[in-house]
Amino acid sequence: MSVVTRFAPSPTGRLHLGHAYSCILAHDHARERGGRFLLRIEDIDPGRTREEHVAGIEEDLAWLGLGWDGEAVRQSRRLGLYAGALEALKARRLVYPCFCTRAAIAAEVAASAAAPHGPGGALYPGTCRRLPPEVRAARAAAEPHAWRLDSARAAAEAGPLYWTDGETEVQAEPAAHGDVVLARKDAPVSYHLAVTVDDAAQEVTDVVRGRDLYAATDVHRLLQALLALPTPRYHHHALLADAEGRRLAKRNGAPSLAALRAAGADGPALARALRMGQMPGGYSVETS
Ligand code: GLU
Repeated sequence: MSVVTRFAPSPTGRLHLGHAYSCILAHDHARERGGRFLLRIEDIDPGRTREEHVAGIEEDLAWLGLGWDGEAVRQSRRLGLYAGALEALKARRLVYPCFCTRAAIAAEVAASAAAPHGPGGALYPGTCRRLPPEVRAARAAAEPHAWRLDSARAAAEAGPLYWTDGETEVQAEPAAHGDVVLARKDAPVSYHLAVTVDDAAQEVTDVVRGRDLYAATDVHRLLQALLALPTPRYHHHALLADAEGRRLAKRNGAPSLAALRAAGADGPALARALRMGQMPGGYSVETS
């Protein structure tokens, strides 16, 4: 089967060097194997998506000389696909409505010495999972709610799961993430569900993305099993850090590609330098 990779940015800001590096790795992984490289705009967060950033992403990639196959896919146009997946999970009682506010969850976690923790901090304590069915149904009809995965039930149904990261086989530990949100109160789908559905729908064979998403793969692998979707190969790459060892991010002052371009940088030359591991501006690839 021919290789298909994708770059899947969220248009919540301008791209910086770290995005360029990730995109180059995904692009080259496909191109070196005669495969296809796709662009997917992950614009499911209505509060944070900015239309001008969608155009900006396309401009930045074109400037770097990175071409993608076909039209860029917009997640905001595919909500029906995700709703279908969520319905399938509802029908099997693998998800439940959650009415909790962030503040209520934080208060409950703070009040409980035994609150479960995962790779990203405190986990959802399971409050709404324990609601009696009649209360749940009445509240779901009247109150805004998110949908959470019943992770223990789902993991038990799926059994042991594995995925490959480069050459390494990794055992998935989805229960360690707790009952993640699959549809939000203010957005009909969450990152985890949309990315899993789309990687399968777009027949992505190899997911090349930053190491910051390594742990999320546990959840994606579980959703693949539950929805009977194929599992791509994963290749999580090291992230870029600045001279002080801080992860490259806008909040740490990382310059956007647009700013570099405005300052006269040459896109293809920058892409060549990143390929050779020559990071401009004192940036480097994290070693640990
Ligand atoms: N949209 C995600 C982000 O910008 C990346 C999704 C992925 O590569 O799986 O962080």
